Amino acid sequence: VRPLPGPFTPCPGPLVRQLFLLLLLLICLLLPPAQALSAELMPGNFTADEAGARLFADSYNSSAEVILYESTVASWTYNVNITQENAQRQVRGYYLCPVLYKHKFLALYFSSRTKYQGICPPIARNETHFDAGAKYHVPAVTPYIRYFVSFVLQFQFHKALCAEANYSGPLHYCDIYQSQEAGVKLREVLQAGASRPWQEVLKGLTGSEILDAEPLLEYFKPLITWLQEQNQINGEVLGWPDFEWRPPVPDGYPEGIDKLADEAEAEKFLEEYVRLSWAYNTNITDENSKIMNLEVSQHTLQFGTRARQFDTSNFQKSSVKRLLEKLQDLGRAALSTTDLNEYNNVLLKMESVYSKAKVCQENGSCLPLDPDLTNLMAVSRDYDNLLWAWKGWRDVTGQAILPSFPEYVDLSNKAAQLNGYADAGASWRSQYETSSLEEQLEKIYLELQPLYLNLHAYVRRALYRHYGANYINLQGPIPAHLLGNMWAQSWSNIYELVVPFPSASQVDATPAMKSQNWTAQRMFEEADKFFQSLGLLPLPPEFWDKSMLEKPKDGRDVVCHASAWDFYNGKDFRIKQCTVVNMEDLIVIHHEMGHVQYFMQYKDQPLTFREGANPGFHEAIGDVLALSVSTPKHLHSIGLLDNEGEGYESEINYLMSIALDKIAFLPFGYLIDQWRWRVFDGSINKKDYNQEWWNLRLKYQGLCPPVPRSQEDFDPGAKFHIPANVPYLRYFVSFVIQFQFHEALCRAAGHTGPLYKCDIYQSKEAGKLLADAMKLGLSQPWPEAMKLITGQPNMSATAIMNYFQPLLDWLITKNKEQGETLGWPQYDWTPYSGTVSFLGMELERGQATAGQWVLLVLGLVLLVATMGLAYKTCSLKRREEPYFGSEVELRHS
Ligand SMILES: [Zn+2]
Repeated sequence: VRPLPGPFTPCPGPLVRQLFLLLLLLICLLLPPAQALSAELMPGNFTADEAGARLFADSYNSSAEVILYESTVASWTYNVNITQENAQRQVRGYYLCPVLYKHKFLALYFSSRTKYQGICPPIARNETHFDAGAKYHVPAVTPYIRYFVSFVLQFQFHKALCAEANYSGPLHYCDIYQSQEAGVKLREVLQAGASRPWQEVLKGLTGSEILDAEPLLEYFKPLITWLQEQNQINGEVLGWPDFEWRPPVPDGYPEGIDKLADEAEAEKFLEEYVRLSWAYNTNITDENSKIMNLEVSQHTLQFGTRARQFDTSNFQKSSVKRLLEKLQDLGRAALSTTDLNEYNNVLLKMESVYSKAKVCQENGSCLPLDPDLTNLMAVSRDYDNLLWAWKGWRDVTGQAILPSFPEYVDLSNKAAQLNGYADAGASWRSQYETSSLEEQLEKIYLELQPLYLNLHAYVRRALYRHYGANYINLQGPIPAHLLGNMWAQSWSNIYELVVPFPSASQVDATPAMKSQNWTAQRMFEEADKFFQSLGLLPLPPEFWDKSMLEKPKDGRDVVCHASAWDFYNGKDFRIKQCTVVNMEDLIVIHHEMGHVQYFMQYKDQPLTFREGANPGFHEAIGDVLALSVSTPKHLHSIGLLDNEGEGYESEINYLMSIALDKIAFLPFGYLIDQWRWRVFDGSINKKDYNQEWWNLRLKYQGLCPPVPRSQEDFDPGAKFHIPANVPYLRYFVSFVIQFQFHEALCRAAGHTGPLYKCDIYQSKEAGKLLADAMKLGLSQPWPEAMKLITGQPNMSATAIMNYFQPLLDWLITKNKEQGETLGWPQYDWTPYSGTVSFLGMELERGQATAGQWVLLVLGLVLLVATMGLAYKTCSLKRREEPYFGSEVELRHS
């Protein structure tokens, strides 16, 4: 996971109609938290002309990285020590953002003369033209707002006078001719002159003392209605989202246009931009730097202003186009100051609820997720104990996060819409720059499904053997809490229940790591060594000084969810992880270090391009290395296994251990954003949040909740990325493309033989493929980066299928042998159908079968009664709090 860079995550598109722009700026400047900014980071005085705009943009440019750095530091401080004070500090950090945003708004103000009227100059204009002077009132120094006021007032007057004249039809047909009463009223107004405040005079005539557009709107109502209909019929766009469009200049017209349509010119400019940002990035002297090399950094972001001057519509190179477009991106700034602060607060609230949540036991001791609950889910094989942790975690997270979630959804959508997207989901998907993204993913998912279904059936059988027929139905979904992980997203932890060949050698490095007294530090050093063996960059000293590699023992609250951080100053990169000494965390370390490697590789790119080629790329890098690290051959070479795991049975064991992580994850990685996209686009509404969540869990993962769930539960909120606002599709994409990368790297490393045996350790050739792709950052569309690594531009399931082929063959045979049913035809089965809860008394099957016949009979009676009641309630039109755990239905897409 990489944290989103706080409020600076680019949300798409420009916002034009920002009313009261300067006013907002002033308000923003007056915000007390903004005073925390040093003077050189504050917007100064700028004249309202192009020269002023340019100076202004420079000022923005020079301060952006400093503020980004400070804001990230505040966020880090909070993450590694969740206290009230640090929360405040982080919120203060957020307040820095509006200041930045106002910079951007002001820039828009300068650039969009089209704002109010929606008209543009037909030819280029500059400051020497002074078009304002072509209107009489400007040279005549006559204030003009009076005409605006008059145009509103006259309709107020008209309506009042018509009423005096006893007229009662549509306002636009009223004629006050010959009405003495109207005349008297009007005379009173005129005679008053300026002797009384105008509000009083207005009240005397109209009964209201405020300027009011209502009568004007009433007067034009028929016309407005007609226009609305026409516009709807014609599908018109209201406003002028293409606000930078200009008409073509007539042939031979002497003056240039204000758009540069010359692509060569744009490229020259780009080159200079990259050169200068490199110069800047290699010359940062002090990380606390206010000591910014202004001359250079100004150039970097000055680009944003100039980017607006290019008309890219006929450019051939999409990369040139993209830089210009991305530089114009306003991001979350589209929200008003109030909304933006609210948004940041909602996010902070959700994440802090999640990070501080603990599940308390009867004896009063309380367990946090990391490491206690995670560990319990991993090692416990006791049905009820697992259920306690599973349900407890959802009670303290999901339920507490639910109240904030609808507002989060609204504000996310608002920001996305202000930037020209249909909703927040569309804005997330746009990051992939792939027009048929959803179809492509569905196709890949379907190709992979046989692997998952076979794994699911095989694992279900193993759970059946352990937990028995009461808890596992061989034709039904698996209860979600039995798979060794809080979200059943990775099943590695139940490996010992499902191991194909118990007597053959196992791939588990954990025992050796423990017996050799490995520490978190040692694990990171080992991972660093692997990266360096490929010729990739070593971690800088800052990393070792400032990272948080273990959960602090001083009792402070920290956000334990592992993450990698880029501080945007080209040398400060950190990881925050509550590392546990085991093999799983060794893999997680490689994952996070993949992010850091990416940060380091693209650090010389302009800020805008310091992103993965697409979000999946960023997640894939470390995992690719981990595919080599976890091979028995490699683990043996670093002394964590005593043999190289040769032989068919050992190899199937090994593939099973990888599949429990990589294949089990696929449907989970796919469904999370399926759910969020539909929440964002409104097809899942608030009351169905949890039910639709379980519909997807059932459809894709073949899981059911172990206890009834209701509208008051919010199980999506029990997964970090939901409250933390991190899109999730990236992980699905990553799990697919990492095998494509692995295959290509192995080829480059000269590996022959099955893909799952490949270890790219020490292959500079493999490392170079990765490094070259990472260096691109976001500067080119992701298919280019894909080509650099794999030689072709597409996402594909072929490599992952290829990798797991021997396991799939084995699973198919095994499942046939055991007569397994693939899928879960008894999809509405649940493990709790026999549990009865009535009048505060809970009768469990376990107790009943223990010989408590009376209770059993009573239980059955109550069960019938409950089901009867439930049936009755179901048949009512709408239930207030449906217990829909047993009503989940399979949806077909
Ligand atoms: Zn990650």
